[in-house]
Amino acid sequence: MAEKVLSARFETADSMSLATYQADGGYTALKKALEMKPEEVIEVVKASGLRGRGGAGFPAGLKWSFVPKESDKPKYLCVNADEGEPGTFKDRYIMELDPHAIIEGSAITCYAFGSNVAYIYVRGEFKLPIKRLEQALAEARQAGLVGKNVLESGFDFEMWVHPGAGAYICGEETALIESNEGHRGMPRLKPPFPAVVGLFGGPTVVNNVETLAFVPHIINKGAEWFAGLGPEKNGGTKLYGVSGHVKKPGIYELPMGTPLREIIYDHCGGIRNDRELKAVIPGGSSTPVLTADEIDVNMDFDSLAKIGSMLGSGAIIVMDQTTCMVRAITRLGKFYAHESCGQCTPCREGVPWIHKILERIENGQGRVGDIDLLLSICDNIQGNTICPLGDACAMPVRGFIDKFSPEFEEHIEKGKCPIGPFVKPW
Ligand code: SF4
Repeated sequence: MAEKVLSARFETADSMSLATYQADGGYTALKKALEMKPEEVIEVVKASGLRGRGGAGFPAGLKWSFVPKESDKPKYLCVNADEGEPGTFKDRYIMELDPHAIIEGSAITCYAFGSNVAYIYVRGEFKLPIKRLEQALAEARQAGLVGKNVLESGFDFEMWVHPGAGAYICGEETALIESNEGHRGMPRLKPPFPAVVGLFGGPTVVNNVETLAFVPHIINKGAEWFAGLGPEKNGGTKLYGVSGHVKKPGIYELPMGTPLREIIYDHCGGIRNDRELKAVIPGGSSTPVLTADEIDVNMDFDSLAKIGSMLGSGAIIVMDQTTCMVRAITRLGKFYAHESCGQCTPCREGVPWIHKILERIENGQGRVGDIDLLLSICDNIQGNTICPLGDACAMPVRGFIDKFSPEFEEHIEKGKCPIGPFVKPW
């Protein structure tokens, strides 16, 4: 039985309360961290190998160490709780069921890089997570765990919940910062990077919810323990969110690097109605799709990169033999076209163009040359935009075409979907 770290309390009654959290040793890591030097806290997190769980997999301790020690502006932590990537639904569980883990992780993180203020930027549709976070913050404030002179250590720490308005692009760190400042959520050109010029012009760290929730455990149990939970350079456990055509969709906390086949067939009970597996998106909708022959891959950052895909947020979308791959990528294309902020031409024009072409192929009106046209639009988007949204559309489109081109060709040749019209299962 794999060790549960973040989800250990998920099924405990009243898991979200301060009393339950403290009965399990909650906030002892904060006390321990406040007795250490800030740079020692950074070193422990660096040694643990904790990598960002939002998608990029950047080492968290290294990110904190980029913040300049001296600054004439306040430093900030922004907790990325926007969770807008299709297929991703892990952070909401932590916010709803264990919000104090995020507050404690944020306090330790702020202490480590010299900040006194954290904002948790939550997507606006997350009504219950917002309520639970507000309740937890009120409890923590009353207990002296948030506010002036935390645990009588001399460290001041304030934290605020900032609901967004539900735009996918606000999960991109600089758009999140813009939105947190009260502006329209439009990504900024980098450099300067947020670690130097971020929220309100001050040095800023942006970390994902899941990443921060690991921090108290690392401080209490040590870097070696965390690193040993997963393969080399991919330490810890991971909250894998599985959706689509499996018998038991849901959140599964497993060691980083658990084989995809094991997740689908052992933990999720296999494919619904015992059908054949056709494809899997391994890490949220922007990650390149895998075929049924590729599921012996280990679900960690490096193993997926080696086969040309990404771990992303660990959001696994499973598709069985009844799935039309053209229809699936058309739906994703529609999402990205809708969510483009419009700042850069390749994304603003290219992504809706991709969607339009995919839609006509799906509707049986595809033209000879459409596949090459799609690939050439992808070429013109990838690497030519301010933020990764353009790539987030181009990469899966390229992946679907690479892996399932006969299905695209058949749609164009026959002028219809070979699988038949979509029948709503509800
Ligand atoms: Fe906006 Fe798209 Fe450019 Fe990102 S890539 S800044 S979403 S237009």
